[in-house]
Amino acid sequence: MKSYRKELWFNVRKRREFINITPQVNTCLEESGIREGLVLVNAMHITASVFINDDESGLHQDYEEWLEKLAPHEPISQYRHNNTGEDNGDAHLKRQVMGREVVVAITGGKLDFGPWEQIFYGEFDGRRRKRVLVKIMGE
Ligand code: ZN
Repeated sequence: MKSYRKELWFNVRKRREFINITPQVNTCLEESGIREGLVLVNAMHITASVFINDDESGLHQDYEEWLEKLAPHEPISQYRHNNTGEDNGDAHLKRQVMGREVVVAITGGKLDFGPWEQIFYGEFDGRRRKRVLVKIMGE
């Protein structure tokens, strides 16, 4: 069995953003040479997510508004976590809802997606360098 590991780095200028990272994951898959197996893609930070859905701008706006209703950024004093001196209490909650990681099957050297599926990095506390882990195992 072969194993491949890579870290993808992001420095999102805004506090929150969704980025389609499917092209980077495809590049990793090509580099790995693995034809049959599984790829794990996970955020390495507790204020960011990796998730799968449609690359459709209206849906991304819906996520932004829905998450902001669930866990508004302001006022930052509403979160006990921010008593530590941080201002990212909302980002931890948003990350929990959107998830830490995805696993995708690899079949015939390709990501074996359902219709319209794409992999996204969800940033909820940006403006600093953060990482995503790509781990591929198979043969
Ligand atoms: Zn925090």
